[in-house]
Amino acid sequence: LLAAKGINVRFGRLQVLVDLDLTVNRGELLGIIGPNGAGKSTLLSVLGGTTSPQEGKILLEGVDITSKRSSWRSRQGIATSYQIPRPFLGMSVYENALVAAQFAGNLRGKEAQQAALEAISLAKLDGLADVQAKNLRLLDRKRLEVARALASKPRIMLLDEIAGGLTESEVPELLDLVRGVLDSGVTVVWIEHVVHALVSVATRMVCLTYGSILAEGNPHDVLASPEVRQVYLGIEPDE
Ligand code: ATP
Ligand code: MG
Repeated sequence: LLAAKGINVRFGRLQVLVDLDLTVNRGELLGIIGPNGAGKSTLLSVLGGTTSPQEGKILLEGVDITSKRSSWRSRQGIATSYQIPRPFLGMSVYENALVAAQFAGNLRGKEAQQAALEAISLAKLDGLADVQAKNLRLLDRKRLEVARALASKPRIMLLDEIAGGLTESEVPELLDLVRGVLDSGVTVVWIEHVVHALVSVATRMVCLTYGSILAEGNPHDVLASPEVRQVYLGIEPDE
């Protein structure tokens, strides 16, 4: 569905992504883990079109979209949760979803209203549609982030650390929500520090370190691999 080929990103003298190749397959939930500064968010912003790589290509269904901006990509169905990191606080949940449907999704009239309502329902925010975003508790704000991404009717959703700040009892609710998104046919790429959460929903996992892929495959295999245990989890081989 979406592929990155030979991606190099440098910020001044700092090389953040190094000859990186990544393919996102239709229908999967690709989990991305890795230490702070590994380049995870940069990778997501390269896929979403907010960072231009110095070298490399991004392909959507095999078509080169490297030069396309994030607004174009969102209309083509690549939704990012971080792109506008906060909802419009003075607007209701419904209004936030509607704006996302209109601007990110390029939908009009009834179609936009329908998309906003469906997104709210899938994000389990039905009872809160008229509540202003600023009055939502953190978990519901996370739900709204997902709802806004859904309202643009995406093919693929890019999520950057949306479990951050949630309590242990709230994380499973977010997992249910993302599972629902996946079941609705949207492909998901999810970066997360809360590794145990990601392992339970990811269909495939990539561990990034120093801008390169250290390991990829089945989530349990990735976490059990000696490289990941040593470099990322800090566990010595005979522990
Ligand atoms: P974290 O887990 O802390 O979110 P990350 O894996 O998402 O880390 P990135 O945010 O991609 O890492 O950053 C990788 C490196 O690139 C870091 O050293 C960061 O300081 C640097 N970096 C990121 N964006 C920029 C930028 N716009 N300008 C300069 N340096 C940047
Ligand atoms: Mg990050």
